[in-house]
Amino acid sequence: MSDLLDRRATTETEGAGGGLPITFACAGCGYKAPAGRPVPLRCPRAVPDDDIDHVMTRALDLTHLSFPAGAESNPFIRYRTLFHAYHLARALGWTDADHVALVERLDAAVAAIDGGGFRTTPFARNAALSDRLGFAHDGGVYIKDETGNVSGSHKARHLMGTLLELEVATAMDAGVGSAADARFAIASCGNAALAAAVVAAAARRDLDVFIPPDAHPAVVARLRALGAQLTVCAREPGVPGDPTYRRLRAAIDAGAIGFTCQGNENGFAIEGGLTLGYELAADLAAMGTSLDHLCLQVGGGALASSCIGGLAEARALAATTLNPRIHPVQSRAAAPLARAHERLAHRLDSDDPTENDIAWAAHHRSAFMWPWESEPHSVATGILDDETYDWLAVVRGTIASRGWPVVVDEATLIEANEVARATTGIDVDPTGSAGLAGLLELRRHGRVGSNETVAVIFTGVQREIAPVASTLEAQVGGPR
Ligand SMILES: [Zn+2]
Repeated sequence: MSDLLDRRATTETEGAGGGLPITFACAGCGYKAPAGRPVPLRCPRAVPDDDIDHVMTRALDLTHLSFPAGAESNPFIRYRTLFHAYHLARALGWTDADHVALVERLDAAVAAIDGGGFRTTPFARNAALSDRLGFAHDGGVYIKDETGNVSGSHKARHLMGTLLELEVATAMDAGVGSAADARFAIASCGNAALAAAVVAAAARRDLDVFIPPDAHPAVVARLRALGAQLTVCAREPGVPGDPTYRRLRAAIDAGAIGFTCQGNENGFAIEGGLTLGYELAADLAAMGTSLDHLCLQVGGGALASSCIGGLAEARALAATTLNPRIHPVQSRAAAPLARAHERLAHRLDSDDPTENDIAWAAHHRSAFMWPWESEPHSVATGILDDETYDWLAVVRGTIASRGWPVVVDEATLIEANEVARATTGIDVDPTGSAGLAGLLELRRHGRVGSNETVAVIFTGVQREIAPVASTLEAQVGGPR
C-alpha cells in the first residue's frame, strides 16, 4: 500500500495527472473534480433554480483500496485510507504517520474543548427493548448509540470529515478552504451547530451559525461559549423554505466555507458520516449477525445518505454482504423525502429504476423535492428540515435495498422516546429515537417480523433544560 501511494506521490509531482483512488464528481451535472487537488465542498456548476440535483459524490477505485481491518479506536484513524484527504495528503508527500498526527492533533483539541475525542460508538442488541417490542431471540433491535459522541450527537462525524479535507487543502495552500482566514458557516437549530462549533474551535476557525428564533436557550448558550457568531433568522410571511438555510446560502456566496451538514452544500459532510456505515458493517461482521432492516431518521438526509453510502462501500470492498432494507423515517409534520419517494416510485412505475431513470430525476429536482409548505412543529425538532437536501441518494438507496419510507405521528415519536429511555437507559432525545418510532410503526402494521433483526441509531443526547429566565433575543442581542 505504501509503495503504491509513494508512486502516486511521484506521479502527482510530475504532473502526469495520475488520479487518487478516491475521486469526486457531481451526482447531478457530472462535473468532475480535478484529480490530485482539494475537492470543492459544493459543485461549482450549481446555480440557483437550474433544477439539477448538485451533490459532490465520491467514487472508489476498488483495485487500489481495501476495507481497513485496524482496531484503532478513533474512526478517523481506523478508516483513514477511505478518506479523500488521506490520499491528497500522501500525494502531497506526507507519510502515513504525518496524516495520523494531523488527526490526533485535531482530536486532542476536540477533546480539550468537549471532554472527549472521536471514538467508535457502541453497537449492540438491546434485550430489554427487543423484548418490549415483542421480538424473538433470533430477532431483535440493535442500537448504535451516538449520544456519547463528540458534542452529544453523530453530527460531529460529518464535520470532522469535512475539516480533514479543509486542513489538507490549507496545507496544500490551494482550492477550497485554503484561505486560512475564511469563515466557516452553518445553518442549524441544534446538534449540527453544536458539533460545528466544537470542531471549528478545535481548528481555531471562526464560525457563523444561522439559527431559528426557537433554538433552545441551552444550545444558544453553548454556541456562544464556544465562540460561534450567531444570527437569528425569523421566517418571513409568504416566503417558503428555511430562512436559516437562505442566510447560509448568502454567506457561502459571499465567501464563507459551508461547514454544514446539507449534502448539496458540502459533499464532505457525507464522507465524514460514512464512518457510521463502516462501523455498522465491521461490528455486524464481528458479531456474525445479519441485519434485515435499518431505520434511519431523516431531516436533511445526511445521516441516511452516509449510512447507505458507508454500507454500500463496505459491500463493494467485501467487508460485508449485508444489505438491510432501508427505512427513512420522517415526522408527519415535515415529510418531503417520503413525498419525493412516492413521486419517483409513481413516475417510474417500477421498483427497480435504471441509471437513466435516476439521471432523469437528478435533472428534474423540482418534480420531487421542494420546501415543505407549512412551518413544521414536532417533538423531533432535529428532523424538521423543509427539504431533504440529499434526497436522491436516500431515495435511490432505499429503493435499491427494497426498503420504503415510514412517516410517523407525534404520539409515536413520543412513545418511541419514552420506550427508548425506559428500556435502554440511554438519555436519547426525541429526534435521536425517531428511527425507533419508525420501527414501532412498522411493527404495529406487521411489516417487521419478530424473527427479524433491525438496527436503529440513537443520534443525539437529551439536552438539559436550561433556566428559561432569559429569552433567546436577550441572549443573542436581537432577532437579526
Ligand atoms: Zn453539479
